[in-house]
Amino acid sequence: MGQPVAGNPTQYMMEKAFAAARLDWRYLTLEVSPADLADAVRGMRAMGFRGANFTIPHKVAVLPLLDSLSEAAGLMGAVNCVVRDEQRLVGENTDGKGFVASLQTQLDPKGKRIVVLGAGGAARAIAVELGLSGAARIDIVNRSLAKAQELSQLLTEKVKVESEALEWKGDFVAGEGVEIVVNATSVGLGDAEARVPLDLSSLAVGSLVADVVFNPPRTRLIVEAAERGLKTLDGLGMLVNQAVIGFKNWTGIDPDAGVMRDALEEFLEL
Ligand code: NDP
Repeated sequence: MGQPVAGNPTQYMMEKAFAAARLDWRYLTLEVSPADLADAVRGMRAMGFRGANFTIPHKVAVLPLLDSLSEAAGLMGAVNCVVRDEQRLVGENTDGKGFVASLQTQLDPKGKRIVVLGAGGAARAIAVELGLSGAARIDIVNRSLAKAQELSQLLTEKVKVESEALEWKGDFVAGEGVEIVVNATSVGLGDAEARVPLDLSSLAVGSLVADVVFNPPRTRLIVEAAERGLKTLDGLGMLVNQAVIGFKNWTGIDPDAGVMRDALEEFLEL
């Protein structure tokens, strides 16, 4: 459920995965306005939905309509995935877990010094989950300093990870020892030429640059980081992995992640 949600690739990806797992299940893309959200959640209870994903603008508004929250969803104050446990609806957040699962194919965040660019919903989910995965330090860089400070405070006080909030002015220069930089802003979304203000020369060889933007997946940031010989991680991996976690939460079955990534690439005509 979201608004606008037309064109979202998740239904296509999930239904391919249901078919591959021989499950006669359906995943529906539902356009729901904020005014109708409470009725829609009552409707999913009444109709016995196994679960749901919630996207913009419902990730925070859905919280009071649920019966309980996972630890991560509670810390983030945002839910993107709901699972029905008998008659109770449990809120989970799989965005950050999907990112960490994707990252772990290349680097373990444990003990690493990380910079997250952005302080919106995606940044919040990613930073909390990186903290829960044992990152040594997570600095938050954002245009609006107040939002960076709020997230940084959450990290130090609730997730117990070292963190500093920095105002984003000009090209961000990564400090010594930073091994992972994540673009968690919307810069690059739908625009392959858009430049994330980051001084890539400040990153040492062996560092990794990740982008949450998945359309297009080859963002300017990813292309330029790869040209410099840095490790890269595109946003498709996060999208596939959060869907893999949702699928498992609802069905109890591990889906074929390869089928899901292929479906996504087919849908996005990559
Ligand atoms: P929000 O609106 O919550 O946050 C947007 C963030 O981007 C804010 O930190 C904002 O800064 C920053 N920002 C926007 N424009 C600029 C700019 N021109 N320069 C610098 N900073 C900018 O959005 P979300 O966090 O929900 O989404 C962010 C991105 O993550 C989107 O592109 C979305 O598609 C992607 N995403 C990808 C997922 C995946 O699975 N790959 C999952 C979820 C999201 P400020 O606070 O100063 O306005």
